[in-house]
Amino acid sequence: MAFLNELTRGLKATGQTVAQKTKEIGEAVQVKSQINTEKETITRLYASIGKQMFESGCEEAEKKFFTEFASIRKAMNKITELEATLTDLDGCISCPECGTRIDKISNFCMKCGAAIEHKAKADEAVVEDMTEAETAEETVEVEAEVQMEEAEAAVETEAEI
Ligand SMILES: [Zn+2]
Repeated sequence: MAFLNELTRGLKATGQTVAQKTKEIGEAVQVKSQINTEKETITRLYASIGKQMFESGCEEAEKKFFTEFASIRKAMNKITELEATLTDLDGCISCPECGTRIDKISNFCMKCGAAIEHKAKADEAVVEDMTEAETAEETVEVEAEVQMEEAEAAVETEAEI
């Protein structure tokens, strides 16, 4: 009997230990999550400081972070290149503010409302539009001539009758 009591006590103790362990693991997960949140905050702020440094045009920063700055510029050029490729593929451009893909003829981003500047591409578009407009005018002229000729022909026919 003493043995059974011993065993029961032992099992109870084990059960308590398991419950305690489970609770501790749960708390540990929460604490780890909080640590990660704080780490993310630091990483975000580091990135913000780095961006400000990069954009400051500070000569000292340029010298000190020469390799990083060069890599950033390289990556930026690559993005511009890739976005141009994407524009050829889907006919959209990236909003300079939020990055949403919007139709390349849009003047405003439909997500964040940013005004979209059409730089060199805009000039091309104007040239294209003008060419189209000219073509359209020519078409109208040709059509008008055809109609005039038809009208004249009809008048002549009527006159003959
Ligand atoms: Zn946007």
